[in-house]
Amino acid sequence: MKIHIHGVRGSIASPGLETAYFGGNTPCLEVVADGTRLVLDAGSGLRNVGDRILAEGKVADFTLLFSHYHWDHLQGLPFFGPLYMAASRIACIGPRPGVLGLRDSLRQQMAPPFFPVPFDSLPSQLTTRELRLREGFVQGGFTVKSAPTNHPDPCFAYRIEHGGRSLVYATDTEHYDCVDPELLRLARGADLLVYDAQYLPEEYAGQKGPARTGWGHSTYEAGARLAQAAGVGALGLFHHDPRRNDDGVREIEARARELFPATFALREGEVLDLAAPLVDRVAA
Ligand SMILES: [Zn+2]
Ligand SMILES: [Zn+2]
Repeated sequence: MKIHIHGVRGSIASPGLETAYFGGNTPCLEVVADGTRLVLDAGSGLRNVGDRILAEGKVADFTLLFSHYHWDHLQGLPFFGPLYMAASRIACIGPRPGVLGLRDSLRQQMAPPFFPVPFDSLPSQLTTRELRLREGFVQGGFTVKSAPTNHPDPCFAYRIEHGGRSLVYATDTEHYDCVDPELLRLARGADLLVYDAQYLPEEYAGQKGPARTGWGHSTYEAGARLAQAAGVGALGLFHHDPRRNDDGVREIEARARELFPATFALREGEVLDLAAPLVDRVAA
């Protein structure tokens, strides 16, 4: 199982010299195994997935799995080239958004005056499926399990298994006062846990700026606690704060390693191979 990292930034894209090392695109991970592709979230990083598929002359045929539908996880979709090609088959799967259904949520973000091309005029074969609470599914060789996170509006974390390897994608979640039993169950023994580490503990607690409690995001400290309790192989810090420059992300990485040594901050453009030990990336 290989994970191509296309976007690691939370809340809003943050391009610029200060964020160029870890990258400024919002969440998008592309998981590939045995030629099957599963894309996690449609942040601004999704554009790169589409551009590469088109450049290679391939036909898009994959599952797009949404954690939820906040803008930073959705806004790459209208700029995803294969959406405009009749041969493309894209299965959109995620939690029921709440007020609107999944399909209407996708339609709404492309409705006038927000976007010039109406969703219903797209030629691609786009299907939608809403997952129930803790519902899983099998797609190609992937087995996917889900668990709810603590976030405003419904949001799911996922465990993706293939060929004896496992990735847990737990973003946009708040830890509160204990290790989240839902995520602990989902992450147990995973090779890699990708976790929302947007805030420093002192930011979360309000010792540095306003308290971020109730904002739906977490810290490297809570990530390390979860990683330890679940016995994961490695912890990948994710959903970097848009105001955090590269030195700031490196500081978070260093602090997290003191609590859970097998930790690294996810970086746009990298490819992680779960079949190989992640030690190299951790040591980099
Ligand atoms: Zn987010
Ligand atoms: Zn969110």
